Amino acid sequence: MSISHWRRSHALGTVRGDAIVVGAGICGLSAALHLERRGLVVHVVERGTIGCGASSRNAGFLMRGAAESYARAAEIHGQDTARLLWRWTEENLAGLRAEGVESLPSTRRVPSCLLAMDEAERDELARSRDMLREDGFEVGWLDPGRCGDSIWAGTGERRPLAGLLNPADAACNPVEVLTHLAHRLARPVWEGQETVAIEPGEGARDLEVRTTDGRFVAPRVLVCVNAYAGLVLPSLAPLVHPKRGQMLALRDESIRLDYSYYARFGYDYVRRAADGAIVIGGCRDRFADAEVGFEDRTTGEVQAEIERLAERLLGVRLDRALILQRWAGTMAMTADGLPIISPVPGPWLPGSVWFSGAFNGHGMSMAHRAALAAVDAMMDDDRTLFGLDRASLAPAPFTP
Ligand SMILES: Cc1cc2nc3c(=O)[nH]c(=O)nc-3n(C[C@H](O)[C@H](O)[C@H](O)COP(=O)(O)OP(=O)(O)OC[C@H]3O[C@@H](n4cnc5c(N)ncnc54)[C@H](O)[C@@H]3O)c2cc1C
Repeated sequence: MSISHWRRSHALGTVRGDAIVVGAGICGLSAALHLERRGLVVHVVERGTIGCGASSRNAGFLMRGAAESYARAAEIHGQDTARLLWRWTEENLAGLRAEGVESLPSTRRVPSCLLAMDEAERDELARSRDMLREDGFEVGWLDPGRCGDSIWAGTGERRPLAGLLNPADAACNPVEVLTHLAHRLARPVWEGQETVAIEPGEGARDLEVRTTDGRFVAPRVLVCVNAYAGLVLPSLAPLVHPKRGQMLALRDESIRLDYSYYARFGYDYVRRAADGAIVIGGCRDRFADAEVGFEDRTTGEVQAEIERLAERLLGVRLDRALILQRWAGTMAMTADGLPIISPVPGPWLPGSVWFSGAFNGHGMSMAHRAALAAVDAMMDDDRTLFGLDRASLAPAPFTP
């Protein structure tokens, strides 16, 4: 990005603090709150407006778990890591509740239901149910005929074979949640401040974050830009892959949805929001080559596929239903599906610049807790749980 003379001469000058957080999504705002509770003066710099990234463009599921089922996650990452991630997502919701998120009009306790759309998915979810019970998690199970809502009642052409229930989950309007978190900060977020460089500062321990209009100086920087990691910290570009997700909102009062649904191993998702709208998204896997990069525009092909999904899954007649909105957002994926919470090497003192992000499509459900882990590790020199040195993070081919 280039900066005009007019903007530069209207500059903010130098702003000092104890820590700078880059990015004001769920992760950055949560990190700033955790840092402030340690008594630090924190400045959050955001290139656009609060939550203008994935955090205001998601489906609002506050759901236990990660992208894979519990059984699959245990297989890929080991049972200890799966258990930790599932606990983190429970603690994420508990942490957001402690911030008062449950008092917001859009936040509701609503169980999530992972639907089995074929026998392989049913077997995997049944294994997950058993393993979750063994590990002490509360979990429910639904068979067809045991639930009266539209997905199960047979109005749709594609009927689920079974469902795994997370009884204690919740759902929200993420914009309302972010606005609420931002208001809890001691200082307003510096909006419209794109970070253009992070460099060693003049003092021995200082770092300088250069933004559109100013210089922010502090001994610690926590970068929470999720999909945009490689644009801010180029060494992360081969590791964090921006992928697009698309959604739409529709109105059809005849549909009954008792749960927030997550189907086809999480590639499709649907729920009813507190304002009555049905939000539905997914189908990304069918357009894997096209749904990459940073552009958050919708495309006719994916939107048409989501409309077909609504027809098949919910039995919606789109000539009767009203489409309220279509949108897209950029998620951050890693080769192994795990987040990154790690110091980032560079021309600064080791351990002074950290990254927390790459939530593989589950950041609303994980980032508040992950930000706490990042802050604890950065401040106390704790063990890095999801570091850059793991072999499974090996760069996958990147398509911009
Ligand atoms: C369609 C879709 C549906 C989803 N559904 C769900 C769901 O239901 N539940 C769930 O748990 N997760 C869901 N996710 C994932 C979730 O939205 C993300 O994982 C989460 O929002 C990531 O939060 P974040 O704060 O890390 O990143 P972001 O919200 O993307 O925030 C990063 C911020 O950094 C800013 N930034 C970038 N570059 C710079 C720079 N140079 N200088 C300053 N600021 C910068 C951006 O403007 C942005 O505001 C979904 C995502 C999408 C796209």
